[in-house]
Amino acid sequence: MKSKVLTAIVSGVLLLSGTFLTGNTVLAGDNGPSGPNYGGNETIKNERLHSYDEMVEFLEKADKRSEALELEVYGQSVQGRDLYLANFGIDEDNPTILFLTQQHGNETLTTEGALQVIKHLTSNGKQVQEILNNVNVLIAPRLNVDGAEGDVNFSLEDYVAGTHTRYNANGVDLNRDHVERNQPETKALHQNVLQKYQPDYMIDLHHQGTQTTLGDTGELVSGSILYPTNENVDPEVREQSKQLGAVVYNAIDSKGYGLISKYPGSNKPTISRNGLALEYGIATLLLEVRGMADHWYEDYVLGQKSNGYLIQQVVTAMEASLKALADGSIQSADTSFWETLPESNYSGE
Ligand SMILES: [Zn+2]
Repeated sequence: MKSKVLTAIVSGVLLLSGTFLTGNTVLAGDNGPSGPNYGGNETIKNERLHSYDEMVEFLEKADKRSEALELEVYGQSVQGRDLYLANFGIDEDNPTILFLTQQHGNETLTTEGALQVIKHLTSNGKQVQEILNNVNVLIAPRLNVDGAEGDVNFSLEDYVAGTHTRYNANGVDLNRDHVERNQPETKALHQNVLQKYQPDYMIDLHHQGTQTTLGDTGELVSGSILYPTNENVDPEVREQSKQLGAVVYNAIDSKGYGLISKYPGSNKPTISRNGLALEYGIATLLLEVRGMADHWYEDYVLGQKSNGYLIQQVVTAMEASLKALADGSIQSADTSFWETLPESNYSGE
């Protein structure tokens, strides 16, 4: 794994001095971290998000447009929906990163951000080519395709919007199924993506509640991050995970809207952040984005007004990771910030 990364440094270091895939800067303020919540007052308009059919159409169009993209179906969900992997090519001399979104069907903006990155990567810009020449990019958008459609074998009556569920169609939390892999979604991800392509890095993209704060400051965060915390994870893998976290932290923190806390996550191997690091030696990072499209806790649900900056936060995290892998700068990322990064606190009821 190391040698691949080192090769990428040598070949990529001079290529990427400019900005890659520049996004629009979104200013803090009304739409910033202390901006509006759903608060029970706003109509939830989840139809603005990509439905499954719209996502598939988007991916197929991108596939047609791009020589670099190989769109794969790597499995099927409980309800028979195809699971898609956007594969931008595997060169064994390059490091491989996997971006995984929406293991929880109600955590939607992660996929919206991933689709934007896929679109960027299918454009023929010079900087995109330099990225793709130096990094193997795998993007698996929306693992929980059934929950994201509300097409599940249980009632949604407790959910605020009644459109998206955390669990898959069998009522299972896919991000607690990474050891046993009893569900078709997790089984397919492990067999046909993780074991087949053996990524070096993985970012697992989620959403958390709306009221998470930076330590005891009372300031609402835009997101939270964490590396694999299970004590049996190889220390070198954990350090590489912390470096990936440093890249993401620095990129988001430099944005006006960005405020990041340390996620107080569990050490269980059933969670992908821990399980993939343990089983495959993948350097993993969890990124939790503020607010969900739907939940049974009203307090967790965010309306649409913050979607712009939250999607941008996902794009920023993904692009910064690609750039740091392509130019090798991830190898010198300073991980000391983790020691002082305040843990999440919670200002909700
Ligand atoms: Zn989640």
